[in-house]
Amino acid sequence: MRQLTYEATGQYAWREMPEPQLTAPEQALVRPLMVACCDLDVAVCHGRLPLPPGYAVGHEGLAEVVAVGDEVKGARVGDRVVVPFQINCGACRECRRGVTGSCSAGPLMAAYGMAPIAGLDGGGFMSDLVLVPYADAMLIPFPDAVDPISIASLSDNIPDGWRTVGPFADELDRLDPVDRRVLVLGRLSIGLYSAAIAAALGAHVDYVDTDPWRLAAAEKLGAVVHDVAKPDKSWGSYPITVHTTSDAALLAATLRATWPGAVCTDTGIYAE
Ligand SMILES: [Zn+2]
Ligand SMILES: [Zn+2]
Repeated sequence: MRQLTYEATGQYAWREMPEPQLTAPEQALVRPLMVACCDLDVAVCHGRLPLPPGYAVGHEGLAEVVAVGDEVKGARVGDRVVVPFQINCGACRECRRGVTGSCSAGPLMAAYGMAPIAGLDGGGFMSDLVLVPYADAMLIPFPDAVDPISIASLSDNIPDGWRTVGPFADELDRLDPVDRRVLVLGRLSIGLYSAAIAAALGAHVDYVDTDPWRLAAAEKLGAVVHDVAKPDKSWGSYPITVHTTSDAALLAATLRATWPGAVCTDTGIYAE
C-alpha cells in the first residue's frame, strides 16, 4: 500500500509499505477517507518542530471500516467512523477515568502519524489502510447526514477546541448575560474551534489574532474580532479565556485577562 512519509523539512514522499493485517479479535482495519492537517503537522513541515525523517504522517481523520476482528461489536464493515489520533484500549485505569490520551496499555503518548514522539509506529492516516488495535474503544461511527469535511478534525483539534469552553457551559449559563464573555487568543486551527463553540453556546466572543484569513473566519463563526497582538486592558476580564499562541508573553497577558478563580485553558505546544 501507499504511505505518505515525512522526509525532511517541507518534503514528503509516497512509499510502498506492506499492508497491515488483523492479528487479534478486537482489531479493525480502516481506509482513511478524509485527513485534516493538524497544527502540529504544520510546525513539523515548516521546521519549527524538527523530527527525525522516515515516519508515516496524518493523525486526524475519518475512515471507512474494511475489516473487523471476531470480537468487535461497535463497528461493521462499511461504517464511516471517526478514528481518534490517540491509540487507547478503553479498559485500563486511565481509559476508564476518561483520560484516554494517557492509556497505559501502550507507550505514553501512543498516537498515529507521529512515530518519533509516540513511542510506537502505528502508521499514519495518509495511507491506504490503518490498523486500529482496539476498535470498540476507539471507533465512533457517524451518521450519513453529516458532511464528513465538516468533522474531519473530530479526532483531534475539534475536541481540543471544545475542552477550552464546552466543560464550562453550565457555568456560563449561570452568569448574568452581560458577563457571558469568552476571550480567545487564536493561532492556527484550535482557537477558531474554540471561538465557534463559544459562539454556539451563546457567549460573546472576543477573538484576537493578526492573520487576516483567520480573523475573517472567526468573524463568520460569530466572534467579535480584534486585529491586535494582545487583549486591551479596557476590555476588562473574562470568566473563560483561551490561549493558543505558544508565546509565553501572550499567555501572561491572557492570564491577566482572566477573572480571579476562573479558568484559562492553554492548548499551545511549547517546543522548547
Ligand atoms: Zn494533532
Ligand atoms: Zn487504556
